[in-house]
Amino acid sequence: MAVADHVNFHTFMEGVKKRNPGQEEFIQAVREVSQDIFAFIEDKREYHEAQILRRMAEPDRVISFRVCWEDDDHNIRVQRGWRVQNNNAIGPYKGGLRFDPGVTESVLKFLAFEQTFKNSLTGLPLGGGKGGANFNPKGKSDAEVMRFCQSFMTELYRHIGPETDVPAGDIGVGNREIGFLFGQYKRIVNRWEGAITGKAQEFGGSVMRPEATGYGAVYFLCNMYAHRDDSIEGKTAIISGSGNVALHAAEKFTELGGKVLSLSDSDGAIHDPDGIDAEKLNWLKALKFERRGRISEYAEKFSGTEYRDGGEPWDIEADCALPCATQNEIGKEEAKKLVDNGVKAVVEGANMPSTLEAVEVFRDARLMYAPGKAANAGGVAVSGLEMSQNSERVSWNHEKLHDMLTELMADIHTKCVEFGDDGGDYVDYVKGANIAGFKKVADAMLAFGVV
Ligand code: GLU
Repeated sequence: MAVADHVNFHTFMEGVKKRNPGQEEFIQAVREVSQDIFAFIEDKREYHEAQILRRMAEPDRVISFRVCWEDDDHNIRVQRGWRVQNNNAIGPYKGGLRFDPGVTESVLKFLAFEQTFKNSLTGLPLGGGKGGANFNPKGKSDAEVMRFCQSFMTELYRHIGPETDVPAGDIGVGNREIGFLFGQYKRIVNRWEGAITGKAQEFGGSVMRPEATGYGAVYFLCNMYAHRDDSIEGKTAIISGSGNVALHAAEKFTELGGKVLSLSDSDGAIHDPDGIDAEKLNWLKALKFERRGRISEYAEKFSGTEYRDGGEPWDIEADCALPCATQNEIGKEEAKKLVDNGVKAVVEGANMPSTLEAVEVFRDARLMYAPGKAANAGGVAVSGLEMSQNSERVSWNHEKLHDMLTELMADIHTKCVEFGDDGGDYVDYVKGANIAGFKKVADAMLAFGVV
């Protein structure tokens, strides 16, 4: 069959839409990757003939299950849990668990699809998966969260394991939830094994995992700047979110001589023109991780700060923007505002925070734009290192892990440049990340034949 006879991008996307009705986020993620892949494989017959992209866009397995739990008032509550095992060509399924009322099958399928490319980019043997539930841990007591996590794991445990599928945290799943989930897993299987990452240091966690995603994103930015003989020193940044990723990105950006002007949560954003320095960040860590407070309290504590109720930070003038909250937080209008305000670098700490239209605006403006699958891969990469440590029964110190993370992010940057350099002074990091991530998984799949 001649290559020209194969399905084109348009027909391919029509098929994806037809097979996944109403799953907008998943369709968006597949579209974003596929346009670059179609151009790359245009003259590569083997990928077409083996239907590689078609197979990657069909999860190996989607597991959906009921999660019953009892709240503190003795009401019986019912939630839906999922694990999407997208692709294990290059390693066990790997990816976080998200507990959020907005979680749907479509959201988890998009995240598992993205994770497959991201994990491939790390260079580690990690497949792609994602899971979670439409459960909102916000405002729940510790006892309620524990009962939910135990019930969730009572089903999930049979689908995971260190050689099969290794979940971790994501939105709504932090230290507390990982502890409850791992405790229940260990209790059921009666084995201590690295079936979950993001664990606390006391029970096999990596000392670098909490910082890894945020620091990694800023290291990626450093690499982008270095590629243009520039640096973070003296630059300003607007950051959204105030979870693990956002706070650690802010910490590293500040440490490297930059100034962070904003952070946000689902209720609103803060704008601190004086900069959110190390001391303020320490206060914020206690607010968010210990007291589970809201970002509005920052404006009450630090004078000169504006609190924007229900607002976002995207109209604040800055050199860099780091969306670290959630998917589709930057649409076309916000993207235009960033470009008009002179933002030169956009680095995604969150997964798919920019809509397809926003991405188009960034690519047209030829910004330094790092998509999440490259920029936030440091988190899952350190999870991969945690898996190695658990298997070997060793624990590596902060310094060693820090060096490994720095090198990993530099390698990912190099891969993006390899496939995304236009030969002039522009690197299309989206294209670079998509092709580099695809190629490794695709070649493994080719080797396996039709399975
Ligand atoms: N949830 C994170 C991500 O989006 C981390 C996953 C992991 O550590 O397995 O990459």
